[in-house]
Amino acid sequence: MAFMKNNPIAPKTSKFKRETYEKLIKTGQFIYQIGELENLRKPSREVSIDKIKSPEFKSKIKYLKECMKKYRKITGLGRGITAVQVGIPERFSVVYVPEIKGQLLIIINPKVTKRSEKFLKYPEMCMSAEPIIAPVARPAWIEFEYYDEKGKKKYWKTKDNTKKGKIYNRVFQHEIDHMDGIINIDKVESKELTLLSSPTYHEKAEFEQV
Ligand SMILES: [Zn+2]
Repeated sequence: MAFMKNNPIAPKTSKFKRETYEKLIKTGQFIYQIGELENLRKPSREVSIDKIKSPEFKSKIKYLKECMKKYRKITGLGRGITAVQVGIPERFSVVYVPEIKGQLLIIINPKVTKRSEKFLKYPEMCMSAEPIIAPVARPAWIEFEYYDEKGKKKYWKTKDNTKKGKIYNRVFQHEIDHMDGIINIDKVESKELTLLSSPTYHEKAEFEQV
């Protein structure tokens, strides 16, 4: 049955929802969705450090960066993408960090060395499970070591308490989970899941201590 015009019980966000799904048709062309690829649910393999500077690995990084840019161009959103999401089952991610020069940070073979005991809940989306919103509880921050795209060992130890700082610490955890075959929705009771239906969702999203 089609909704009649001015039906008082029809959802008021039909236009926004249509636009959202239209974007997902485009991003789904290069980002694997849950159920489409077994590797999304399996741990990815470590990158050989001596191969980081090889032309073959460089082209994989370049491709993942291009996917991140393409996703942002289509949606105006998106903070992190992990190689397995575009069909490369290796442990590296691209994280969008507009505050840092270059804007795209590459993390390779990250290893978490410390986790905050305080947990925060925040409504997350995943490029491989959109438009689901999963309010995931995670440690407020983590420390980890990783390799950059030049093969240098680096450390993340930033515990910035601003919303942006909290989001970074969360994005890294979300992406590292992908390397272990874990999706944000796995960490949440199904009745807590919602679908994106509000244009102001991103402005309203807040951290909640749990
Ligand atoms: Zn994700």
